[in-house]
Amino acid sequence: MKSLRTRISENILAPSQLSSKQLLDMLTPAGRSNELRRHAASVIVARVQLIAGLFAILVPFFAIIDLVVFDLATAGKLIALRLASTAIFAALAWPREASLTRPYTQALAALLVLLLVPSLFHLLSADMLAQASQTNAQKLVAQLYTYLPTIVLGGLAIFPLTALEALLFALPVIGMGLAGLILGGSAPDLAQYGGTLWFMLMMLGVAMFSGMSQCHYMATLVVRAMHDPLTGAYTRRSGEDALKLLFRLNRMAGKPLTVAFIDLDRFKEINDLFGHEAGDQCLRLLADNLRAGLRRSDLLIRWGGEEFVAVLPDTPLDKVPMLLLRLRQQGLGQRPDGRQMTASFGIACSDEEGIAACEALVWRADRRMYEAKRQGRDAVVWPDGSCQPLKPTDASTSTTG
Ligand code: GH3
Ligand code: MG
Ligand code: MG
Repeated sequence: MKSLRTRISENILAPSQLSSKQLLDMLTPAGRSNELRRHAASVIVARVQLIAGLFAILVPFFAIIDLVVFDLATAGKLIALRLASTAIFAALAWPREASLTRPYTQALAALLVLLLVPSLFHLLSADMLAQASQTNAQKLVAQLYTYLPTIVLGGLAIFPLTALEALLFALPVIGMGLAGLILGGSAPDLAQYGGTLWFMLMMLGVAMFSGMSQCHYMATLVVRAMHDPLTGAYTRRSGEDALKLLFRLNRMAGKPLTVAFIDLDRFKEINDLFGHEAGDQCLRLLADNLRAGLRRSDLLIRWGGEEFVAVLPDTPLDKVPMLLLRLRQQGLGQRPDGRQMTASFGIACSDEEGIAACEALVWRADRRMYEAKRQGRDAVVWPDGSCQPLKPTDASTSTTG
């Protein structure tokens, strides 16, 4: 008898092949990787800017309706609110550089402001509109304003937010919507505002569903675009972008960033003797073992065929032997002939003299890797030019341990 969980995932979730981690990632942003957070931030900011730009243009035009429908004093106050809203929308739409350190927080802050402006407009104008609405036209326009928070909740649907985020953004909007109704003269009982509350909750449900599916779609695309399908390491292109960012962040924080250029030794031999498929299997194994030796904050980039670059943020040179020791202890993986795979390493650190950009850093590590090859392979070449064998000898264990 299949468990209920299995039946649900087979029958309901199976078409989208969701794992429980993916499901959790749609519910809360807590487990998101930095790359996904950064990507979600750029999508949110782009959409906030688009909507804010549109509103900055459209909102002043509605002053015509205020002037036609309401008396001059009421229209004047509404227009003042409109101009204040327009100024905030224009500020939101203004292009600005994304924060290097906290792009996601910056994006969510911009979104919060975008959502609060119409809701505040409703809250601040509710009492005044209730007083000024005598004719049918005035009542109609006043009623349209009470829908602003509900429209805002519907608007949440265009953002790739997790369910928890959509809910947290919706709460103040719903609160302001209901407060506005009470200020506008509705008795605070369910019969008066139950319908509006129901409508708001429906909109919230739609926004949550849409946000979650966008999150999932975005995560799938980003992971696919950024990672090499064979080894799961970053592709050269996405890895270079991530390296550039980490280089800048570490520079700003005054921390050293180290890179290790790693090239598998005599890999062509494996392809030639055992076939391309066996070669692929070795590359997969090598990447798994390199990743297992790295920390969570480190990056592994597949630079070329059997060449990898490990990026070690906030790592001075004297911490690198620990990584090499870990890699040596666990091994890089077995070749099809049963021997251990070996690799040549070139190390470079951002606090060396004359490293102005990450390209220079990788170039130096690459040169040192070639020097390790020249010196017989299965070795590491350090920035001071010294070459150290990686074989587990007593001498190297005692110097690096
Ligand atoms: P060295 O110790 O000097 O690095 O020798 P090597 O044989 O590792 O170096 P070389 O650069 O001559 O060979 C690299 C080989 O990697 C050549 C290429 O066919 C192979 N290769 C590159 N990408 C892949 C891949 O995705 N799969 C497989 N199976 N082989 C690949
Ligand atoms: Mg090689
Ligand atoms: Mg090579």
